Amino acid sequence: MKYDLIIVGGGLAGAALAVALRRTSFRIALVEHVVPARQAGWDQRIYAYSPASVRFLEELGVWAHIDRARLAPVDEIQVFGDAGGSLRFSAHQSGLAELARIGESSLVHVELWEGLKRQHNVALFCPAHPKELIHQADGVALHLADGRVLNAAMVVGADGRDSWVRQKMGVAATVESYHQKGVVANFSCGVSPRGTAWQWFREDGVLAWLPLAQAGMSMVWSANNALADELMALDEEAFCERVAQAGERRLGRLELLTPRAAFPLSLMRLAEVVGPRVALIGDAAHAIHPLSGHGINLGFQDARVLAEELAAVPSWQDPGDHAVLRRYARRRAEEAFVLQYATHGLNRLFGTDNPFIRVLRNAGLNLTARLPVVTNMLVRYAANERP
Ligand SMILES: Cc1cc2nc3c(=O)[nH]c(=O)nc-3n(C[C@H](O)[C@H](O)[C@H](O)COP(=O)(O)OP(=O)(O)OC[C@H]3O[C@@H](n4cnc5c(N)ncnc54)[C@H](O)[C@@H]3O)c2cc1C
Repeated sequence: MKYDLIIVGGGLAGAALAVALRRTSFRIALVEHVVPARQAGWDQRIYAYSPASVRFLEELGVWAHIDRARLAPVDEIQVFGDAGGSLRFSAHQSGLAELARIGESSLVHVELWEGLKRQHNVALFCPAHPKELIHQADGVALHLADGRVLNAAMVVGADGRDSWVRQKMGVAATVESYHQKGVVANFSCGVSPRGTAWQWFREDGVLAWLPLAQAGMSMVWSANNALADELMALDEEAFCERVAQAGERRLGRLELLTPRAAFPLSLMRLAEVVGPRVALIGDAAHAIHPLSGHGINLGFQDARVLAEELAAVPSWQDPGDHAVLRRYARRRAEEAFVLQYATHGLNRLFGTDNPFIRVLRNAGLNLTARLPVVTNMLVRYAANERP
């Protein structure tokens, strides 16, 4: 079977790339293990969709179909240090309509797949499992476990942080463990968050509360391993009490809407996100600390930029041409680098118990709060908008 492009991984990044190429003449094969589905209740995985991601999803024709009653805007973010430092970001003061939209992963994922099922230039291979990737003179051949062989000019690895495509590409990833786990859970609250998100930088990790629709709250507690294990071992009531206490009871009584989960956190960097006839996007290309909430926003921008570069390739040119892939890699390098280092640095700054650094980091937050120009710049970075 002959295609122009094979995408391995139909998560948010891979599916968005395929939809973004809907108006091109590319013949696309999308290979994925599992069909995404909505479940009853709330998803465990909640994202902060940045304004740039929302614009991209609008362009893809996806955002208009998302149930607004399940989305919550973030108008303000309040950040606290561990010794009196604080900082407030406001969308209004920075001239933005909102800082982010909080919503479930599957809301967007399922909608992207609805678009894919109707898309004339996409063949879905799902469930399917790639077995071998072979480079040929003028393209690649992807062998599936069921014996089918897909040929194309190039392959995109959108298969998440343990990317099979990346392994086949032979690019070594530098992985640095944070010795932390992201403990995630969603709650119904006694008091509605009303568009406010909170973030507490603590010695034992970073606690984030995001507003969820219908007076809910979504928590990501990036906690040192020992604390994360302790939180996961608590019974439900004690867990809710511990979270409420850590967040200064700002949202009254908390009750779990979804079971809690914990994910090991690490920074992953690659020397190259492209190789001969291969490009990586989303978590296959980078992993960052969740404290900025930008993982999926980076993935969407990868998909948008790669789609732009591929769509600009004239019909007589090979889309797997290394110059095309290099242009994509160059355009994406800065944002991934800035976010990886900013989140890494902040996490380390608040992860030390050195008393001198403790005073400095809190003074730094207070000083930043008094510098509206710097605060506005940070807001625009937080909102994934260029300052
Ligand atoms: C605790 C935690 C909290 C987070 N919070 C946020 C947040 O608030 N905001 C945010 O933006 N990001 C957040 N992230 C990051 C976010 O989850 C990821 O950035 C995002 O899921 C990456 O999307 P992706 O499409 O690149 O990869 P994935 O979501 O991992 O999708 C990969 C897809 O590829 C498929 N696949 C894998 N291997 C193969 C294979 N060999 N063959 C075929 N298919 C395959 C998988 O089934 C999957 O569908 C968080 C992460 C963690 C751990």
